[in-house]
Amino acid sequence: MKIEIRKAETIKPLFEDASKLTFGHLFTDHMFTMRYNPEKGWHAPVIEPYRPLELDPSAMVLHYGQAIFEGLKAYRAEDGRALLFRPADNFARMNRSAKRMCIPEFDKELAMAGLMELLRLEERWIPTAPGTSLYIRPTIIATDPYLGVKASSTYLFFIILSPVGPYYAEGFKPVRIYVEDEYVRAVRGGTGFTKAAANYAISLLAGEVAKEKGYSQVLWLDGVHRRYVEEVGSMNICFKIGGKIVTPALNGSILPGITRDSVLRLSADMGYPVEERLVDVEELFAAHEKGTLEEVFGTGTAAVVSPVGELRWKERSITVGDGQTGPVALALYERLTGIQYGQLPDPYGWSVEIR
Ligand SMILES: *Cc1c(COP(=O)(O)O)cnc(C)c1O
Repeated sequence: MKIEIRKAETIKPLFEDASKLTFGHLFTDHMFTMRYNPEKGWHAPVIEPYRPLELDPSAMVLHYGQAIFEGLKAYRAEDGRALLFRPADNFARMNRSAKRMCIPEFDKELAMAGLMELLRLEERWIPTAPGTSLYIRPTIIATDPYLGVKASSTYLFFIILSPVGPYYAEGFKPVRIYVEDEYVRAVRGGTGFTKAAANYAISLLAGEVAKEKGYSQVLWLDGVHRRYVEEVGSMNICFKIGGKIVTPALNGSILPGITRDSVLRLSADMGYPVEERLVDVEELFAAHEKGTLEEVFGTGTAAVVSPVGELRWKERSITVGDGQTGPVALALYERLTGIQYGQLPDPYGWSVEIR
């Protein structure tokens, strides 16, 4: 299918200092869109000027939340190349989200071609300062103007781009995490494994309560036993216990992170035994008692690796290691970002050049 290109008549001035950019406020000049209807399937792929959408107030997405998204980044290498990290995995995951939310699956090749075309046009927006990147947000929303509860028959797919500053502007700082024991994010059979917009709406309240108590994020426990660790708000979680890298197994209620998968692969190749299994929160506190809870860190596209310095569960609170960033978290961060920014060889074939 041919992708039409409609260029903007005027373009925005570029940011002055990318290292001062914050996350998700600034958007580039163009976006990719395509539409779905039952007659034509996914059709009308076009690169067009970034602009507000026109949407009926009765559009189904506004009432019943039939919406999914993805998140990935374009990185600028020192030699000027622009790189994506495992982008095909994002579109594959998006189709798995689509299926669960009764959204028609799209042609991954077409979405990838649209993204590449968009990035070629918006090349100047990929920042060069260390740690900066161009954040990519593919999204699908239900657009039928109808109030009946059913799956929409029409959809809009769009990709927007946002240049972002370094996540660790003030250095690699361990975060304080609140283990949530009242609210739950997902249950087995639900939508936890998808990037459904609704998953984030339902997680906001717990996040706010944790913030009031001085914690930066929530660690979710399983929805049934309130006992097995699942993940952090927008990151998966890894533990180093007695020399092994341990992470909750994917069970349907956890988002299968691409960073998680990459970190597990790198850990194994660095010689650490890797275990994907049930992780009881009691086990973590017991391991801390015994002195074998060596490191805790989150993994996700935004932060890559985010060290955890403190865990609080009910009335109990523990400091992980000496409360500083652990050596394995640091090594994983350096290897992964090294591959993403094209500074290290990529034996895994994860990097995809934009050209
Ligand atoms: C996006 C996301 C992650 C991380 O996934 P990556 O593919 O590594 O970016 C983890 N948990 C949740 C809930 C997420 O939405």
